[in-house]
Amino acid sequence: MGNKQTTFTDEQLEAFQDCTFFTRKEILRLHGRYRELAPHLVPLDFTNSPDIRVPPTLIVSMPELKENPFRDRIVETFSEDGLGSMSFNDFVDMFSAFCETSPRELKTIYAFKIYDFNRDSFICKEDLQKTLTKLTKGDLSPEEVSLVCDKSLEEADLDGDHKLSFSDFENMVSKAPDFLSNFHIRI
Ligand code: CA
Repeated sequence: MGNKQTTFTDEQLEAFQDCTFFTRKEILRLHGRYRELAPHLVPLDFTNSPDIRVPPTLIVSMPELKENPFRDRIVETFSEDGLGSMSFNDFVDMFSAFCETSPRELKTIYAFKIYDFNRDSFICKEDLQKTLTKLTKGDLSPEEVSLVCDKSLEEADLDGDHKLSFSDFENMVSKAPDFLSNFHIRI
C-alpha cells in the first residue's frame, strides 16, 4: 500500500514541463526509455537529481536514432560535455527539440549546430560537404557533392566570406526544407 516508488518530485516534473514540449506522462515515459538503456546505471529514483550520464553508444542504438545519419552529431550537440554522454536533462532536451510540436526555428538552430562539424559557429564548405554526404547517403560522388556545395554556398553566402553564418543558413533552409528532414523525431 502506498509503496509505489517515486521517480520525480512534483517540482521536478513541473520544471521539465516548463522547459520542454512534453507532458508529465511523457517525461516519465522518457525516464523509462532512458533507464532501459542502462538499468544498472540509471536509478528509478531521480528525486535527488543523481549525476548520471549514459554513454553515447547506448543512446545512438535507440530505434529513434539508429537510422539517422546525424545520430553521432546529434548526441554530441545535446550532451553538456560535447562528447555525447547524456544526462537525463540532455536526453529530454534532445527529444523535445525534435518532437512534432517543437517550432521550426528551434530545429533550425539545432540543425545549424549539428551541421557545424568543426564547431566554429559557421558552416564552411567542409561542413557542408560532410552534411550533404550524409543527407544523400552516398548517392552523390564526392565531385558531385563538391559542386552542389559550391553552388549552395554561392547562393546562400550573402556577405561573400565563403561560409554560412546562422542567418545565411536560416535563409537556405527556408528554401530547402530537406535540410531539416532528419530532425523530426517521434518518441
Ligand atoms: Ca564550421
